[in-house]
Amino acid sequence: MEYEAVIGLEIHTHLKTRSKMFCACSTEFGKPPNSNICPVCTGQPGALPVLNKEAVNLAIRCGLALNCTINKKSVFARKNYFYPDLPKGYQISQFDLPVTSAGFVTILLSDGTEKRIGITRAHLEEDAGKLVHQGAEGIEGATASHVDLNRSSVPLLEIVSEPDLRSAEEARAYLDKIKAILQYAGVSDANMEEGKLRCDANVSIRPAGQPEFGVKTEIKNMNSFRAVERAIRLEIERQKQALAAGQKIIQETRSYDEAAGRTVSMRSKEESHDYRYFPEPDLLPLLIDEQWIAQVRAELPELAEQRIKRYQEEYGISAYDARVLTLDKAVSDFFDTAARLYTGDKKAIVNWLTTDVLGYLKTENLELGQTKLQPANLVEMLGLIDNKTISGKIAKELIVKMLQTGEPARKLVEASGLQQITDAGALQSIIQEILNANPKQLEQYRAGKAALKGFFVGETMKKTRGKASPQVVNQLLDKLLAD
Ligand SMILES: [Zn+2]
Repeated sequence: MEYEAVIGLEIHTHLKTRSKMFCACSTEFGKPPNSNICPVCTGQPGALPVLNKEAVNLAIRCGLALNCTINKKSVFARKNYFYPDLPKGYQISQFDLPVTSAGFVTILLSDGTEKRIGITRAHLEEDAGKLVHQGAEGIEGATASHVDLNRSSVPLLEIVSEPDLRSAEEARAYLDKIKAILQYAGVSDANMEEGKLRCDANVSIRPAGQPEFGVKTEIKNMNSFRAVERAIRLEIERQKQALAAGQKIIQETRSYDEAAGRTVSMRSKEESHDYRYFPEPDLLPLLIDEQWIAQVRAELPELAEQRIKRYQEEYGISAYDARVLTLDKAVSDFFDTAARLYTGDKKAIVNWLTTDVLGYLKTENLELGQTKLQPANLVEMLGLIDNKTISGKIAKELIVKMLQTGEPARKLVEASGLQQITDAGALQSIIQEILNANPKQLEQYRAGKAALKGFFVGETMKKTRGKASPQVVNQLLDKLLAD
């Protein structure tokens, strides 16, 4: 049977505030354990929460960037559960009245088409602390576990998507898009390695064409973008095999085991009534008026959609290229800087970025910021191509060296003798040697097999290790082959 996957993501992102959600403690990452704490964020009896206005500003900002409705009235609620990293015994979150709801984002699919993914809601909540296990990874093998409450009560926004995603690739594209939006809007660094972005996935499958949803499982413990994509792919496959074997899918929470390459059952899936949500009695309802929303809107930085438009209008870049360039804010910022420095056609920058640079990042599984390439160095390389110091072919090797070393283009060219050979005299004698060494091909060419010119061009390039100017080689060959 043909199955279709149905996927929804819950993304938790830290909001870039200086202080915590309900107290004045710092949110700075990487501080000594339990140094950023106070009676409020450690849940001391009688300590009262005070809402951080900047967290609300960022939630509104994010809501606008996600095309959401900003709700005039929202309510904080207690989500009750027990865990050692949650001293209060409940998390302050939002339940039936979230701060923003009913938005959408557009993702770019691999075939170049676009798809709209609904956002159910984005609500404010506080983070929990962190357990640090000693002795072994995971709680089972640990000899001791320490509680670090520095993260306790750091502001979070939970972004819940509609079940609109149909494959692991779409889920990845959506996750990439949300990360980019968070970065463009200046709401969060969205750094998954520092735990500033976390993602859980709800996954089910159903016979293709069936309108009802199948039984879903929730996948947790995915620690990288790649892990999210892989875990979802594995879970879809597991569910297909289970159904094919006549088993039933159980509604449960499953943990992704990266090393083993599978998902494993953690616990039966809790329902919202298990948390006994009730309105937080220590906080008033959050009221947001039109004026507040208008103020946040006026302060919104340039978002990806606006950059896409600007790139097309200012530089004549295609809609598709503009979309690819803006998928990652770091790449788009790099392009903007390079475009200001380069006096030639900006499309050259686009081509190098979207093919060679993004290709390199994908193969090496790196982000642009993890390489050493600088906009000024790329622009210098383009200048060397423009003035024919190097060939396009050599530039392809050069850009990899620049990504790895961060050295300026000219220095690398001079150090490794990569300059293009344009000296017609030197090239003519090389070509003459090649013609002499291949009399059979020369004879066939003169007998009318014109395609053999490519063979001679290739031989010349081989002999000069790619450094011969293709233009000069072509001119010379035309002349010498006609003799
Ligand atoms: Zn505190």
